[in-house]
Amino acid sequence: VVTAAVYLRQLVGPLDTLMLWIEQLQGAAASYARVEGLADIPQADPPRARDVDGDRIRVQDVRYSYTGVRDVLRGIDLSVQPGERLAIVGTSGAGKSTLARLLAGLDRPHTGSVTIGGTPVADLPPDQLREHVVLITQDHHVFHDSLRDNLLIAKPTATDAELHAALQAVGATWPTEGPPAAQEHELSAGWGSGLDVVLGRDTILGDAEAQQLSLARVVLADPHTLILDEATALLDPKTARQTEQSLAAVLEGRTVIAIAHRLQTAHDADRIAVMEAGELVELGTHDELVSADGVYGKLWRTWHGDDPDDTTPLTKTS
Ligand code: ADP
Ligand code: MG
Repeated sequence: VVTAAVYLRQLVGPLDTLMLWIEQLQGAAASYARVEGLADIPQADPPRARDVDGDRIRVQDVRYSYTGVRDVLRGIDLSVQPGERLAIVGTSGAGKSTLARLLAGLDRPHTGSVTIGGTPVADLPPDQLREHVVLITQDHHVFHDSLRDNLLIAKPTATDAELHAALQAVGATWPTEGPPAAQEHELSAGWGSGLDVVLGRDTILGDAEAQQLSLARVVLADPHTLILDEATALLDPKTARQTEQSLAAVLEGRTVIAIAHRLQTAHDADRIAVMEAGELVELGTHDELVSADGVYGKLWRTWHGDDPDDTTPLTKTS
């Protein structure tokens, strides 16, 4: 559990960006909904729902710069079909997370466009955005509030039964079976109230539980597209395995764009996009890229050898 201030610092890092964010934010709930792609700053003239058809994602000639000096994305062109699984790989600093944020409508490109079904994704009003695309990262967006309110962010109209079903869908055995075993700090008082349990007071969620909370929100928001940015990168192996099982449950039936830090993730995807220094340098299936013997092909040979079960990290996390 983090305070809004700590959360913001973890979230945005550099001070100039922080100032920008503070101007835009209207309280902690708004910030965390925004970051998970569950909400956005309302636009003056929101596009209408009928503009979004098919949920084909198109990235056209996108450039982006944080500082106005150096472009961290340069001329990105990419199209993702509904239902496709795309892995994005590349070294640290290549621009993967920046692209993920643009795809999730959390920021807009400086030139070019990022559209879903023809509509600029950053223009979608919050209630529509969360039906289309949600970004999951390794940040835990847990607020000092009831479990119910922590979940309702994703679907304000959900009933308690829906909230419990969402928790079950991602394998969360809490709150129905009591507090997570790992919690030394939990106070038993209040736990029995289930969804009324106040996170940060009655219990403190561990990494796996916090990630399950995020994933339960995905189930509730039910977006067509899920973007995963290093969702399990910093977790210990046991927690990562648990989280991956929960993840598998929410990937079904969605378009998935996963920033891959394991070769297996890239290998299993329908297509792989390779980024280097802000550019998309390769795009194709695993087999295509291996035979092309470019960046990905060389990575594959170097890290993977002939062992199909190898899960050596492909990139350093950043
Ligand atoms: P990746 O996820 O591939 O590691 P990022 O998209 O995080 O790459 O970063 C791309 C480039 O943009 C890097 O050079 C990084 O230092 C820079 N960058 C990322 N976030 C910010 C920011 N908030 N302010 C300024 N520069 C940033
Ligand atoms: Mg990154």
